[in-house]
Parts: sequence; structure tokens; C-alpha cells
Amino acid sequence: MDNTQHQEAVKAAVRPKFYGHPSIKSKTVPHYPTTAEREFRRIAGAYMRLLNEELKKKLPEMMAEYAKERRGDSRFDESRDLDAKLRQMLQEVAVALERRVAEFGLDKKVEQIATMTRNTALREWKRSVKDTLGIDLLDDYFKGDLYEEAIRRWVAENVLKIKSLPTETLGDMRQIVLESYIKGRSIRDIQKEIQEQYNVSKRKAQLLARDQVATLNAQVTKLQQQDAGCSKYRWSSSKDSRVRDCHRALDGKVFSWDDPPEMWYDTKEKGRVYTGRRCHPGEDYCCRCVAIPVFDLETIDVPMKG
Ligand SMILES: [Zn+2]
Repeated sequence: MDNTQHQEAVKAAVRPKFYGHPSIKSKTVPHYPTTAEREFRRIAGAYMRLLNEELKKKLPEMMAEYAKERRGDSRFDESRDLDAKLRQMLQEVAVALERRVAEFGLDKKVEQIATMTRNTALREWKRSVKDTLGIDLLDDYFKGDLYEEAIRRWVAENVLKIKSLPTETLGDMRQIVLESYIKGRSIRDIQKEIQEQYNVSKRKAQLLARDQVATLNAQVTKLQQQDAGCSKYRWSSSKDSRVRDCHRALDGKVFSWDDPPEMWYDTKEKGRVYTGRRCHPGEDYCCRCVAIPVFDLETIDVPMKG
């Protein structure tokens, strides 16, 4: 069977489901990849804890140096001297962390998250097609180059993003110690602030994980639906208290994959502000919305089993 014949066979198989309508909405709402998201947040947290462990090993030495400089018994009574020593010690933390990261196997773990996300998107897509059109998709459906490329790019980007977090955090910590030196603050205060800074960075890592799983899910969903000849989708929010107003307003509306809606937020002073950013479900920052496929009888083309 060639492509045209296959597409005709698919149309013939699904035609009764359309009841004379040109398009129908999926009977099931695709699930958001919650498990992959939770797992990625856990990994990001565990990765940042390595940094905290290495930092804690170095902290007594850093604070001893700080105390020495404050007493003024080093040769140069200047923050420059302290800065040079801090840079060296934080560099040692970075080197120790690099070793731990190799054992941690970040690349492999991020790859596994991508696979989990992709598998959920595939499962949900097959469920949608089966429940709505009554046909089974081929099992090796996902082996296309387009998917492989999107996933490879996502893994590479995320490994880089996560790896850059400790460097940023260590830079922030150097700044904290130097500013404290100028302001003459106590070691206890510095240690407290360093720990707070670490907590901020750890939260940032976990938010990154949440955002990135949504981004990958959105990419795969778009590829799947467009591949199948779906030009439109229905926006579906997760319908809980965390959904932002804009996405709540989009819930249930139909959009074209070629023309995503513009994002907005409301302010007290200026009323509604449009951001200029156009997003599909899952593309806005930390968005957990999903796209319900709208199947079109004229354009439908899916790799059907048998
Ligand atoms: Zn959303």
C-alpha cells in the first residue's frame, strides 16, 4: 500500500466516527506528564544538593580566611586579597563538584526524563486516537527523525542549563562574602545568607525542571498532531487554583497550530497587559495546560495498524 492508499484506508476506517462533521474533538483529554516532571524536579534537587555538600566542606576554611582578613593580620588589608582567596576556594568547590557530577551521570538522567515525557505523550496520543477514531496506531510510531532531533536538542540544552547553575550560585556566594566584608558583618550572618542563596538556587533548579518537561511535552504534542493532519486543537488548562487567569480564559477555546494566542496578565494600574509572546499549551513559563487534538476528516493521516 502506498501513502495515498494508506491515507484513503485511514479515512474509510474513521469516516463513521465523524457523523457527517468535517472535524471532531478528541474524546479524551491528554494527561500532562506529571511523573516525568516530578522525577526531573527530584533529579535537579539532588544535583543541587551535591553543590551544597561540597560548599559545606569548604565553608569553615572560607570563614577562617574571612576572619583573618577582618582582623587585619594578613599582609594587605584589602578586599582584593580576600577576593583572590575566595575565587581560589570556590574554584576548588567547582572542581570537586565536577568530579561528583561525573559519578551522578546527569546526561543519562536527563535523557531518561526525555524518554519518560515522550512515552507519556505517545501513550496519551494513542489513547486519544483509539477512543475518538477507534483505530490503533503503529507501535514504532515515534521513531521519526523529527522527534529524535527535538529530543536530542532538548537533552543537550537541559544538561547545559543545569550544569551552569552551580557556577552562577558560586559566583553569587563570592559576592555575598565580599559585600559582607565591606559592611563588616558577622560570620554567622554570612553563613545564613549563603544557605539562603543556596535554597534560592535549588528552587530555581526545580522550577527549571518543571518548565522544561512542559516545553518538551508541548513540542512532541505539536509534532504528533500536525503529523496526523490536525491543524487545530482545543486549549485545556489543569483547572486548579494555580492556573493563571490568561490560561483560564483560553480553556475550551480552539486555536490553530499556525496561530498561537498572545499571552496577557492583568494589573491594577494599567488593566490588561499583552506580553507580545504567543504560546501554545505548555509553552508559557511553567504552564501545565495541554492541547486536545481536533481531528479533521479531510487531512487525517496516521500510521494505522493492519
Ligand atoms: Zn497554562
